[in-house]
Amino acid sequence: MLHQAPRTAVRMATRYFSSGVSLNFETVYGGSLTSNCVITCEHAGNDLPEGSHWGESDLQAGLPSKHWAYDPGAKEFSSELGFCLKAPAVMSRYSRLFVDLNRPIASHTLARQMCDNHIVDLNMNLTPSSIADRISRYYLPYHFEVERVACVVGARVGISVHTYTCNYEGSLRDFEVGVLYSTKNEGAAHKLVDMLNNNGVYSKVNAPWSGKDGFMHSIDCFSHNGSIPGQRSSLMFEFRNDVCQDVAWRSKVISIISPLLKTM
Ligand SMILES: [Zn+2]
Repeated sequence: MLHQAPRTAVRMATRYFSSGVSLNFETVYGGSLTSNCVITCEHAGNDLPEGSHWGESDLQAGLPSKHWAYDPGAKEFSSELGFCLKAPAVMSRYSRLFVDLNRPIASHTLARQMCDNHIVDLNMNLTPSSIADRISRYYLPYHFEVERVACVVGARVGISVHTYTCNYEGSLRDFEVGVLYSTKNEGAAHKLVDMLNNNGVYSKVNAPWSGKDGFMHSIDCFSHNGSIPGQRSSLMFEFRNDVCQDVAWRSKVISIISPLLKTM
């Protein structure tokens, strides 16, 4: 069965614009206003806000369509998983190269200047005020939206969805799914990986990088924000982006992982 978002979910989406300001997120409710979890997708989109433009060399290098700019397949997975779990999904609209929502504000890759050997023209000559503008108008509203939606539905678990390339700087990744945890959900991560492997989807825990090394920044902000300390937890999925762009593969993986995610 394919988990496709229905038209009703689209009609419940948060508007892109508020008071004339374009927002760096799209929120789709999965058909219910109560849920144990909220899904986030920090690298869903590769658009730029009005008034911002890719540089000529960025376009010549095809940068906007590469994994440097966004996570191919992650937006589709997030909305389809949200529909299956009846959970809201908060998804970015603008490229991670414009401002990376999964980085701490002080990170030197908040607005990355190099991708492999390519100098990112979009981010040349950034000033402190232009970085502050990106943070205040696009970075913070996304994180506020995750918190707002989590409070609306009563979410206890944050699930962040990402994709990775099969070849990163010469390092080949043959596995299809990484399930990441940082401080909690070690048992759930291992169970999910076991279920995926038992169903023929080659998966690993804390790969291709570890959730303990700061790569779950955004969803760990959610889990540390709860009004009662320790009540929330986080989990992150990394899917290899070639297989994650296939609707049948996404549907199979969602069918395997959703029963456990519903009970967390
Ligand atoms: Zn990502």
